[in-house]
Amino acid sequence: MSEESKEPATGVEHEVGHEADVLVNQTGRCLCGAISFTAKQVDSGMHACHCSNCRRWTGGPAIAANASDVVFEGAAYLSVYQSSDWGERGFCRKCGSSLFFRLQGSNGYILNHGSFDNPDLLKIVGEIYIDEKPSSYDFQGDQPKQTGEEFLASMGVST
Ligand SMILES: [Zn+2]
Ligand SMILES: [Zn+2]
Repeated sequence: MSEESKEPATGVEHEVGHEADVLVNQTGRCLCGAISFTAKQVDSGMHACHCSNCRRWTGGPAIAANASDVVFEGAAYLSVYQSSDWGERGFCRKCGSSLFFRLQGSNGYILNHGSFDNPDLLKIVGEIYIDEKPSSYDFQGDQPKQTGEEFLASMGVST
């Protein structure tokens, strides 16, 4: 009876070369509840973004998780704002909650931490746009920090 013969645990998948676990079937909603979502796959390791767009949009740094196969209920209340040449941001037009960032034309979502029903399952593993962070606050931890330029280069986005 070797360890290798065990079936992988359900609910969490491990990707090769990926530090964080992938959570399955995570739910969340906006403040008023008009919009809710189920994300079939969510990276448990989140990034915090200090860029000025995220801070204006959320009222603070945006802490968010990569997700795929996201299904929204109440999509009639969902508005999408094009915030840059490559990015767009979804929000509830009834209560104003900011819900996700996504690359235009992508099926992937970067869902805001605050909207998840089980936020304790998620953890910050990196900070981006550290060059735009105001001196007003700092996060604990020694997670890697990237400037905006370094982050965009790692995403393959040319500016
Ligand atoms: Zn709402
Ligand atoms: Zn940002």
